[in-house]
Amino acid sequence: MSTPSRTEWEHRASILKIESRAFIHGEYAAAVSGATFDCRSPIDGRLLAQVASCDAADAERAVADARAAFESGVWSRLAPAKRKAIMQRFAGLLEAHDEELALLETLDMGKPINDALKVDLPAAVRCLRWCAEAIDKLYDEVAPTPHDQLGLVTREPVGVVAAIVPWNFPLLMACWKLGPALAAGNSVVLKPSEKSPLTALRIARLAVEAGIPPGVFNVLPGYGHTVGKALALHMEVDTLVFTGSTRTAKQLMIYAGESNLKRVWLEAGGKSPNIVFADAPDLRAAARAAAGAICFNQGEVCTAGSRLLVEAAIKDEFVTLLLEEVQRWQPGHPLDPATNVGALVDEQQLGTVLDYIAAGHAEGAQLRCGGGRVLAETGGVFVAPTVFDGVSNAMKIAREEIFGPVLSVIAFDSAEEAVRIANDTPYGLAAAIWTASLSKAHLTAKALRAGSVWINQYDGGDMTAPFGGFKQSGNGRDKSLHAFDKYTELKATWIKL
Ligand code: NAD
Repeated sequence: MSTPSRTEWEHRASILKIESRAFIHGEYAAAVSGATFDCRSPIDGRLLAQVASCDAADAERAVADARAAFESGVWSRLAPAKRKAIMQRFAGLLEAHDEELALLETLDMGKPINDALKVDLPAAVRCLRWCAEAIDKLYDEVAPTPHDQLGLVTREPVGVVAAIVPWNFPLLMACWKLGPALAAGNSVVLKPSEKSPLTALRIARLAVEAGIPPGVFNVLPGYGHTVGKALALHMEVDTLVFTGSTRTAKQLMIYAGESNLKRVWLEAGGKSPNIVFADAPDLRAAARAAAGAICFNQGEVCTAGSRLLVEAAIKDEFVTLLLEEVQRWQPGHPLDPATNVGALVDEQQLGTVLDYIAAGHAEGAQLRCGGGRVLAETGGVFVAPTVFDGVSNAMKIAREEIFGPVLSVIAFDSAEEAVRIANDTPYGLAAAIWTASLSKAHLTAKALRAGSVWINQYDGGDMTAPFGGFKQSGNGRDKSLHAFDKYTELKATWIKL
């Protein structure tokens, strides 16, 4: 089937019915207070919906409902094969509604429709399917006991999981939490970002249609930190899972300490080094990947390759190739299927990105392309992909996560220096290495303090690979069977025979 044209997407956008209420016990409901907040599209500023602004009163309702569903056993004690079949139906319903969900995502946070439809949606569906498929493949353990003892080591669902997610991949980040949380038998209260609440609200209905019992999956949109904080402080939330900024992540650990010591699992920020050695097998391929690593999703990616470390001997040659490749990434209307750089999520994010560009100038980095807002006449929030050369790792643009398409090029002279610069950051989410030397690749990979390392590519891996960070990029892992660690408690049952 051919992809709809921009005109067709715009027509669909004009007649789209958008759900804006919270979802509790299998039904949509206004916030207890009746309050709403405006949800605007960064494409042109249009008002998409007035979304329920939940607060502590809604958190009370949703958590009580999730707890009751959990205790009833309607999901938590359902036979694995049945839970699996329902989750597969859920994944299938996301797939069946892929164009509607992609459109919602693009309107809500500005990413190109082609990415929403061909990257985010398939990845979200794959995640749910993969976790569903694992349900009846995971065995518990029998301990090697003496003859008169039987030792069982079993995994149990933790109970009520609160999931707080960001706006850059709203549906996919939600599914990275929902997939293993629901597969393990928990009840979930999902809090989407106030900047991108729409797909989370839509899939809640699909979950119930698939057969997930009311109360097992609730969604609470809210403005600012109010409802997220209420969930993080709630005494009946057993586990809090989060993707977002390191600043918020630290606050959530405090909330857990101030309340019930709920388990807290954090996927936070990054400032990932992309290291190109002079012996890289294909400099053009490396340059193409480096451009994609900072331009894809407008640079609003936790693993964005925002520090490009290039061996000094090839630096000028490489930057020339890089600038050619960056030219292929130009902002355009997000509903145009040909667009590969969409709108930033909102004016506030644009202001942040422009402030970092100003800081790059102020600290003496050399601007090689981009450097400002574009397409302002559309009313949308667009910024040109920006490359700074001559950056030192001490500069603000090299130290702080920008979350926009702004790349810092840093030269190095030796593998030791590359590793030292790469690791000189509070973050440790991802890194990439380009070299033809097997030994250099492995030695450098070992030395890098990052949760994911990619060699001769950027952003490798799939649902089989654990994803998460070292240092202030977080703890625990999403994806793969390791993700189930977040959503289960281990129990040792010892029987005297
Ligand atoms: P954010 O921390 O501002 O917000 C994330 C979520 O937390 C939102 O739902 C927000 O409403 C909520 N929140 C904010 N303050 C809160 C508080 N005090 N208490 C409870 N909830 C609160 O992050 P963001 O701007 O939405 O997302 C961008 C960040 O997410 C970047 O730092 C990026 O690196 C990170 N991110 C990380 C990963 C990863 O897997 N490591 C993936 C995507 C994004």
